[in-house]
Amino acid sequence: MEYNYAKRISHLKASEIREILKVTENPEIISFAGGLPAPELFPLDEIKEVSRIVLEEEGTEALQYTTTEGYLPLRKWIAARMNNRLGTKFEPDNILLTHGSQQALDLSGKVFLDEGDVVLCESPTYLAAISAFKAYGCEFKEVPTDEDGMIPAELDRILDSTPNVKLIYVIPDFQNPTGRTWTLPRREYLVKAAMKHQVMIIEDNPYGELRFEDEPLPSLQAFDHEGCVLSLGTFSKIFCPGYRIGWVAGDQKVVEKYVLVKQGTDLQCNTLAQREIAKYLELYNIDEHIEKIRKVYKRRRNLTIKLMEDHFPEGVTFTRPKGGLFAWIELPTDINARDVLIKSLEQNVAFVPGGSFFPNGGRENTFRINFSNMPDDKIEEGLQSLAGVLREFV
Ligand code: PMP
Repeated sequence: MEYNYAKRISHLKASEIREILKVTENPEIISFAGGLPAPELFPLDEIKEVSRIVLEEEGTEALQYTTTEGYLPLRKWIAARMNNRLGTKFEPDNILLTHGSQQALDLSGKVFLDEGDVVLCESPTYLAAISAFKAYGCEFKEVPTDEDGMIPAELDRILDSTPNVKLIYVIPDFQNPTGRTWTLPRREYLVKAAMKHQVMIIEDNPYGELRFEDEPLPSLQAFDHEGCVLSLGTFSKIFCPGYRIGWVAGDQKVVEKYVLVKQGTDLQCNTLAQREIAKYLELYNIDEHIEKIRKVYKRRRNLTIKLMEDHFPEGVTFTRPKGGLFAWIELPTDINARDVLIKSLEQNVAFVPGGSFFPNGGRENTFRINFSNMPDDKIEEGLQSLAGVLREFV
């Protein structure tokens, strides 16, 4: 059979991370490759209790179809939390529950992107956002980005010279893949520029609650007077990714469009998952739980930075993230991180080469490591081996 696929399929290729993760199923591999939270921190006993209570108290209702918008008590909780933490003024009607923030990315493409539209993004940016948007036939313009966020003059230049920009996609807190966080002035500048050019911003914030130091910075929502910011959130990193529950929050008019496209995608989110999370939030203290996660990740971040400082050869630079799950490494420009990966897999150590985080290619001398998922002794052993491999190249 000659399969006659849609044109959009030709834009897609297998995610490099998924290919590498196949290798990492081998238990001998020390993997800095995935973006996995630490499973030993999942509140397993509490979840057993919660799922029993939901089925006993709510019975068949917990197994029935429900609204596309999502379970009201959970949307109320999300609106209240965003209002308290981020200074927004959301009502439950500003929130649509999605299957992870990944689905919100896909729905964003479905709502906003026509073939040939342009998406502005950080350089580098989140790999699976590139795939989600690309399926709608868009092009990407990477806005040169430094430690503080997108560079204002570059943002202006690109916005002024590109007529069909439809979306600006950013991850202002502990970015995937770099771990960088935008400063306050850069946040404000971006929103002003978007309002001036009447372009929608997608603010993706899966890591904001996982801050290890300093004060939290406001969401882009804080500077938005025109409803041009949509914020994506998720329970994946503060609770468990397996539930696949996230959300999109913004102007009600826009959220209604997301509701329409979600109906065509999957009607609604998993009823039981929504109710179990809501019950957990009612019965337990999620702030205490998040504090536990923060403590462990902070220790692992400290260890990771210390090991890189002590053992990585001169000429290799890296970010020092103040939260989240990732650090970003830059090698001298003549070294290809894919070659380093091949050698490092021989030592049973995996990471993700950085090239594919740039939608238009390039910067092969970079790679990402995840520090949240492994115990201290494995981090130590893995980074020592990786340092040895790097010394063969640098
Ligand atoms: N956005 C970013 C920046 C991410 O890093 C991730 C997870 N790796 C997601 C979205 C998707 O997360 P989820 O669908 O589990 O909420």
